Amino acid sequence: MRIDLESILKKLLKCNNLNCITNQPREEAKAKFQIKSVEPIILQCYYCERYLTENEILKQLDK
Ligand SMILES: [Zn+2]
Repeated sequence: MRIDLESILKKLLKCNNLNCITNQPREEAKAKFQIKSVEPIILQCYYCERYLTENEILKQLDK
């Protein structure tokens, strides 16, 4: 089975920058990330360019 990591991450994760457009309730923007590195995983927010590290991702998935 092939897992589409990118689409899973986009659905599950939020940008950690509280000022990011994706964290503004009035904005329609959905979180969107570019994969900068896979091992270890590092994502970058498409909108504010903040990096999301593996630890931050694991914290979000742990909820
Ligand atoms: Zn962001």
